[in-house]
Amino acid sequence: MHFARFPRVHFAHLPTPFEPLDRLSKHLANEAGGGPRLWIKRDDCTGLATGGNKTRKLEFLMGDALAQGADTIITQGATQSNHARQTAAAAAKLGLACHILLQDRTGFTSRDYTRNGNVILDQLCGAEIHRHGAAADMNVEMEALAKTLRAQGKRPYVIPGGGSNAVGALGYAEVAMELVGQANAKDVKIDHVYLATGSAGTQAGFVVGMAALNSGIPTMGISVKQERTKQEEDVFALAQKTEAHMGLKGVIKREHVVADSGYVGPGYGQSTPGMVEAVRLLASLEGILLDPVYSGKAMAGLIDHVRQGRFARESDVVFIHTGGSVGIFAYLDTFESNA
Ligand SMILES: *Cc1c(COP(=O)(O)O)cnc(C)c1O
Repeated sequence: MHFARFPRVHFAHLPTPFEPLDRLSKHLANEAGGGPRLWIKRDDCTGLATGGNKTRKLEFLMGDALAQGADTIITQGATQSNHARQTAAAAAKLGLACHILLQDRTGFTSRDYTRNGNVILDQLCGAEIHRHGAAADMNVEMEALAKTLRAQGKRPYVIPGGGSNAVGALGYAEVAMELVGQANAKDVKIDHVYLATGSAGTQAGFVVGMAALNSGIPTMGISVKQERTKQEEDVFALAQKTEAHMGLKGVIKREHVVADSGYVGPGYGQSTPGMVEAVRLLASLEGILLDPVYSGKAMAGLIDHVRQGRFARESDVVFIHTGGSVGIFAYLDTFESNA
């Protein structure tokens, strides 16, 4: 867990705050006649063009890109990709050219969804946007673009979707260390950590870090796109690669990887009543902005688990806020129509 061994560029605002969610805890406890204390790790505050979890991964990915002499970054994501936006911002800060391949994964055609939110920020950060349909193989498209750019004398560096490989996941192994240190300093004995899981790098890195620390703290990944077993297998496979990259062996066990796919709803990026409620509750009780695709669904899962009585009254449960609030502006109809 000595991260200075790896190439890195520091641009995230770290450590991110670790704070109690007093009013949300009270609201949920009042419903049930008691409940856990809820805490939040503010990884929405990492600082890069409105922040988010990808900024931590990008510190190591951009470090690797610079170490390899890259002058151009290529990455891909859904139309409202937070990863694409943070990559565009990091590339801007480092003076690198940036190509963003955006795929239509929802079929939404509103101007808010296709142009506002993350998309306008990609553009403001100077990225060149390439649009692709749902059927495209985005890894093939990125390689084709890299080949074209190489033929023009450029030195492209390709970052996978979500920045989710063993290099990017280092950023979340480090969060384990940061969070446990903050909890120790406040005498908070963490009983469970909740986070959103999509392309798997966040949960993979985090559980490797937690296992390496021998923290004994379980992690729950709330899936935003696919069924539980598939998501757990993806996270575990990447966690094994991540521990190998960190020089560890046999630290991560299959049982450390737990996901719940009960809050995806109709599919990736599709709204659910629980997500809308979670976004509203956090905004109105805590002044914290979640997002419709990831943190809103993850918080919907946590809220539902609290209501199911899964946690003892005096337990402490931490939610990692992975960012994405600019996505709210892409979902104006979703939030307005429920007003
Ligand atoms: C990408 C993202 C996630 C999920 O992280 P993965 O590493 O892709 O699993 C969660 N929340 C937000 C806001 C994201 O942008």
